[in-house]
Amino acid sequence: SRARRIDPEEPHAKRFKDVAGLKEEKEELEEIVDFLANPGRYTDVGARIPKGIILVGPPGTGKTLLAKAVAGEAGVPFFSLSGSDFVEMFVGVGASRVRDMFAEAKKNAPCIVFIDEIDAVARKRGSGLGGGHDEREQTLNQMLVEMDGFGVNEGIIVMAATNRVDILDPAILRPGRFDRKVTVGRPDVRGREEILEVHAKGKPLGDDVDLKKIARTTVGFTGADLENLLNESAIVCAKEGRKFIEQEDISKSFIKIGIGKEKKSKIIS
Ligand code: ATP
Repeated sequence: SRARRIDPEEPHAKRFKDVAGLKEEKEELEEIVDFLANPGRYTDVGARIPKGIILVGPPGTGKTLLAKAVAGEAGVPFFSLSGSDFVEMFVGVGASRVRDMFAEAKKNAPCIVFIDEIDAVARKRGSGLGGGHDEREQTLNQMLVEMDGFGVNEGIIVMAATNRVDILDPAILRPGRFDRKVTVGRPDVRGREEILEVHAKGKPLGDDVDLKKIARTTVGFTGADLENLLNESAIVCAKEGRKFIEQEDISKSFIKIGIGKEKKSKIIS
C-alpha cells in the first residue's frame, strides 16, 4: 500500500475525454488544470492557487477518474494513496507513508496528490465511529502538517475523495487545506448514455443493442455500474462463442448486477 504513481505519458493515464458526462465537474476542474500547466500566469499577478480540492459523491461516480484526468490534462504526475490502506496499520506507518508521498510529490512538482476515501483517516474525532484511534489520528495529523507545510504556489495540488463529507473532521476543510469542494453526482440519462458510449468502445454490439434505451433503464446506476454491465455482457457473449454482444446478454447481466446492487444496499441500510 505505498503511494501509486501514474505519469502523463503512460498508456493508462486519463484525459477529460475518458470522463463521460460530468460536464460541470470538468468545467470546475479546468481551472485546476490551468493552474498546474501555467502556474506563472497566476503567480505573476499575485493569485493564490488552491492547495486542496475535495471531491464528494457516491462510490463509482468517477471521482478517481476525474482526479487522474486533471493530472493527464495538465501533463503532470499523479500520486495516490487510499485512506482505507491505513486501517489496521501499525502506529506510525500511516504517517510515514503520508510523509513519503509528499516528499515524492515535492520532488516531482507540479503534480497531483490524490487521497481516496479520505474519510477513513479524516473522520471527526470522537464521532463514535472509532474515535480516539491513535493510528488514524497520527495519519491525519501528518496529512495536515504536510498540507500546511508546502507553500501555496509550490505546484502541488491535493485532491481527495469521499462519499461522507458529513463525517469529516472540520479541521481538514479549513482555508488553505481542502477549501474547495466539487460535488460529483450520479449520472442522468444523458450522462449514462455517454458513459455507455465510452465503455462500448472495443465491444462489438449487435444491431439490437440500443445504448439510448439502456441509458433509460439504468436509473441510479453509476459509471462503475455501467462499465460493469457492459463488461459482464461481453463475458456472457464470449462464453457463448459469439462475436457480437446482443441485447439478451445485456438483459442477463442487468439482472445479475441488479441483484448484486440490491444485496449491497440491504447490507448498507
Ligand atoms: P470510489 O469512491 O469507489 O473510489 P470513484 O467515484 O472514485 O469511486 P472511479 O473509481 O473513478 O469512481 O470509477 C470507477 C470506474 O467506473 C472507472 O474506472 C470507470 O471505468 C467507470 N466510470 C465512473 N464514472 C465514469 C464516467 N463519468 N465516465 C466514464 N467512466 C466512468
